[in-house]
Amino acid sequence: MTTTISPLIAGNWKMNGLRASLEEISALASLLTTGEAPRALVVVCPPATILHAVASSGATSGILAGGQDCHPAASGAHTGDISAGMLADAGAQFVIVGHSERRTQHGETDELVRAKAEAAMGAGLKPIICVGETESERDSGEAESVVARQLAGSIPDAGGQHEVIVAYEPVWAIGTGRTPTNEEIARMHASIRQHLVERFGEPGQTTRILYGGSMKPMNAREILSLENVNGGLVGGASLLAKDFYTIISAV
Ligand code: PGA
Repeated sequence: MTTTISPLIAGNWKMNGLRASLEEISALASLLTTGEAPRALVVVCPPATILHAVASSGATSGILAGGQDCHPAASGAHTGDISAGMLADAGAQFVIVGHSERRTQHGETDELVRAKAEAAMGAGLKPIICVGETESERDSGEAESVVARQLAGSIPDAGGQHEVIVAYEPVWAIGTGRTPTNEEIARMHASIRQHLVERFGEPGQTTRILYGGSMKPMNAREILSLENVNGGLVGGASLLAKDFYTIISAV
């Protein structure tokens, strides 16, 4: 891990979590406050229905809250959608945009992801912009070019002036228990770093690049120690406080 960048571990609960799940937040809060102080910023992105409760109950233990998606518009006739301002109003400081499940299940393009990231920045949120190749793209040797195209299309030009976070999540590693090799992760993160520095200069040196896709208590330490891996975006293993805490402690 690059030492000048303070690491961040974010939990992506996806469409998991009822009010009862707030017990996991309490459990995580007590692990964080009774154990060794975490060396990473800790973010939990729960479903929007419990976002406010997570933001309130996590506040005293330093757990920060994030949304999982936002609409690019500030308000209006968009039934079922949530604006970045509403997430901020509910206590969020971060929002995930362009997750591969949004890209594939909702047909989100780089252009839309960029608009969402702009809306997030406008509302004072830090966007966690997700990129990552499919398995066939990796097999055909296109992983780096696909990710470069997604970065160019999804990160707003203001990405150098506002805090943005990039999450590299190979689609084929999400929820599958499979991960790229450490060399493959390090190579991709180096290429993302190069892109950020070429595009944004100095700020690109300190932009956090998270790894996501089957990060578990078992592999977290190794992955988090790689060059240019500045934290993780954790799905399944963030649902249980005990597992998530083990990953946080691996930083
Ligand atoms: P996973 O999900 O950790 O369950 O693979 C990661 C993500 O989708 O953000």
